Amino acid sequence: MSPRDAYSGTNCLLTPFVGVECNQLQYSVVICSGTFLFRSRVLCNVWSHCAHTSQVDVQLNSTMRLISGTLRSTPLPWLPVLSNIEPSALRRKAATDKLVEKIVKYGNWPIQPDIFNTPLLRLTSRKPLWLDLQPVDIKSRWRHNWKSAQVVNSHLMCDPTIRQPGFDLPRQQWSLLNRFHTEQGHCGACRRKWRLTDTYLCPCGKTQTMSHILESCPLSKLNSGLSRLHSAVEDAVSCLTSCGSWHAYEKKK
Ligand SMILES: [Zn+2]
Repeated sequence: MSPRDAYSGTNCLLTPFVGVECNQLQYSVVICSGTFLFRSRVLCNVWSHCAHTSQVDVQLNSTMRLISGTLRSTPLPWLPVLSNIEPSALRRKAATDKLVEKIVKYGNWPIQPDIFNTPLLRLTSRKPLWLDLQPVDIKSRWRHNWKSAQVVNSHLMCDPTIRQPGFDLPRQQWSLLNRFHTEQGHCGACRRKWRLTDTYLCPCGKTQTMSHILESCPLSKLNSGLSRLHSAVEDAVSCLTSCGSWHAYEKKK
């Protein structure tokens, strides 16, 4: 079984728990299992320089989509922020740093000459760990990467490393909140792009995007728009509840 298949199997086990109607307990199971998946075997330094890392990352991204209730078209930098799990590349780098630290500490280990008297790199396709021995601080690097990421609405998250407001909401509202954050949800424009409908128009006559629904549609807009919704205060949550009914209706159409 390939690594990709192994993690794909884990995602298949989690998927039945997730749905619009899933309750808080089922959703908690998904969050705990998904987080455990990241913090155990998946992120060990074995994968850090493996040629199959990208395949493993595909499955890890699927797990984060399950946790955050987001869709496949969601920009990737959003997934760790909404799931409150450090990006897998950074976690792998931190695990490798820890291993190198141990190697330095135990001078009698036979691996030490391989790390500090490095042989010439003969194949450019290889990425041995001694190419990058500079340790990183996960949180500061994550903040730096987030600042430089060109993703929609990134200005809302001042600190990507903290658990975002609304994380404890019931799944339906939490999922919808994240779809407004990422502008990837069942609005007319997205559904047209996915070939689920013929029209991208809102009942008000304008192009229906997630930001239009929230910020400019006379039928559904929320005062203060997304910034208010992001705070997940009481009236914003009740807006999400009413939007959720509409959202479920749109999906059934
Ligand atoms: Zn409208």
